[in-house]
Amino acid sequence: MRTTAIAFDFDGTLIRGGWDKGVHILYASYVACVEQGFADVVPPADLDRHLPLMVKAYMNYMGSPRFQQLSAIVNAVLNGIPYAVETPVALKADAAHLAAYGAVQNRYNEVYSALNDVAARLFWRPFPSVRETLAELAKTHDLFIASGVLQDILDGDLAKHAFDLSVFKGIFGSNRTGGADKGQILQEILAKGYRTVLFCGDSSKDCEYANAAKVRFFRVRNDASYGALLALLKRGEWPDESVPWSEGSDLAGYYRDKAVKPIRAFIAGRPMTFEAISTWINS
Ligand SMILES: [Mg+2]
Repeated sequence: MRTTAIAFDFDGTLIRGGWDKGVHILYASYVACVEQGFADVVPPADLDRHLPLMVKAYMNYMGSPRFQQLSAIVNAVLNGIPYAVETPVALKADAAHLAAYGAVQNRYNEVYSALNDVAARLFWRPFPSVRETLAELAKTHDLFIASGVLQDILDGDLAKHAFDLSVFKGIFGSNRTGGADKGQILQEILAKGYRTVLFCGDSSKDCEYANAAKVRFFRVRNDASYGALLALLKRGEWPDESVPWSEGSDLAGYYRDKAVKPIRAFIAGRPMTFEAISTWINS
């Protein structure tokens, strides 16, 4: 074991994923609610009011486990509270809705995964400098992945992009119950006894996770971030960007604009194919 560890978020950090996932989450949530017993909670007439609430809920949990994101969105439309709940009971829904919530989760999971698969095939690639940077850093630090992506999906994505897994000491994703978030993963890495632990991520939520786990943070903005990180570490300077930032109203507007078209097509009974949705998001 080395004395220093560097953990990487996956989506948007190792993989150039853009903001697609947020739109996928919004669409998958809406479709799952309509199809699985929550249609009365999201009537088409309320879409203009609900969508900003859904976006707000999602943006409170960017990069968090998917079922946490869903519960925040459902809580937002049901109760006007854009925050996740620990258990479905806390959604304060009636018995029929509570009984249907598992089916909503399953359908949401299915639609979200299918959209991600299509986007991964058509658009998502690792940042060009990632492989080289990981190989270089692995010479002097223990490397980890700490991701909000479900573990089996994370393992599949790493294989699909042909990552050299030997550079990592550990690869940790989330589980279906929404547990094992990045904060816990980072705490466990730190508890192994490293002198310094650095988390590299792309969202403000990642920065909050790092703060909560009392590890350092480096923000990955684009491919050039990897060169900057290497240069800093070569000089023996450890990044420590501990101030979370606001993802901004631009991003909220982007999510609304990109999600509203496929949702309206779905409501009209003419759902877009997943390929068409992904191409629309990336246009
Ligand atoms: Mg990310």
